[in-house]
Amino acid sequence: SAKQNGRDNARFYEAYMAEDVANLFQFEQVIKEALLKDQFSLVYQPQYDHQRQGIFGLEALIRWHHPERGNISPAEFIPMAEESNLICQIDEFVIEEVLKCLKEWQNADVDIVPIAVNISGRHMVSVGFVDYIEQKLTEYNVSGRWLKIEITEGVFIHDVSQCVDIMSALNALGVEISVDDFGTGYSSLNYLKTLPLDILKIDQSFVRECGDSAEGDKICEAIIQLANNLDLQVIAEGVETELQATVLQQLGCHLHQGYYYFMPETKESVSDRLRQQTHNKALKHG
Ligand code: C2E
Ligand code: MG
Ligand code: MG
Ligand code: MG
Repeated sequence: SAKQNGRDNARFYEAYMAEDVANLFQFEQVIKEALLKDQFSLVYQPQYDHQRQGIFGLEALIRWHHPERGNISPAEFIPMAEESNLICQIDEFVIEEVLKCLKEWQNADVDIVPIAVNISGRHMVSVGFVDYIEQKLTEYNVSGRWLKIEITEGVFIHDVSQCVDIMSALNALGVEISVDDFGTGYSSLNYLKTLPLDILKIDQSFVRECGDSAEGDKICEAIIQLANNLDLQVIAEGVETELQATVLQQLGCHLHQGYYYFMPETKESVSDRLRQQTHNKALKHG
């Protein structure tokens, strides 16, 4: 059950508390084994565009199925993996899977949409990251416009000038960049003027308050206006109710992601959905 999983995850976390060097080493062994034994997989959550009335993108989300511990949430192990260099191997696993998927869709009868991957900020600014992305896009013969990168604000605090260079190079490959969990990173807003960003994702905690009260709408409204003024796209994340969906649209945000529309689902289900969407469009216009 979900409750049982929660308890197991809490125990998992306690068992591998990252501050303890010996335990971090143990945790790294467990992750390495998970990578070798194919315990990681991806699910894809469709994102909905109200104006075009269809799916405009997907977010790839990692899942870990451990043979004894069951499913372990990325909210548990990603922060720990970020303490070690293994996050790079996890990121690379995700990028390969996503590019495989895009290549497959390119060769099949599927109307492709961009897929966003979550990348650790520290990894993005590390030496060789852009070269790696460029090399992988070439290897899979996929255009960078189908790959998007989501990062959280944390990385902007220390590495602004590095970020400018790296993000410009990614943009040159056609790879767009989103700020994930926007508004929760305690960083200065100064970076918004400096960095070549494309998208702000309103954090779920603000979306949750949307429609509750006039006060509840205020932060979303401010973020949407900020995005508009800076010529950035804005995606609301964690939309769960019709009320939230309606209020966000009234505030001018038409790109939504959340359980109200779609759960994260397998590649197969998402392929079917995209095929269906292509089919419906053909009926409408043909
Ligand atoms: P995130 O990038 O902000 O991802 C959104 C999270 O919200 C996902 O949880 C998604 O399943 C969940 N979500 C989507 N819609 C709703 C909704 O309507 N209500 C609620 N309550 N939740 C919703 P998930 O998959 O557990 O991922 C949690 C976090 O773990 C992600 O937050 C991201 O920071 C990290 N993560 C997930 N997959 C990856 C990955 O492949 N690589 C890296 N580096 N981090 C990942
Ligand atoms: Mg994300
Ligand atoms: Mg988020
Ligand atoms: Mg998050």
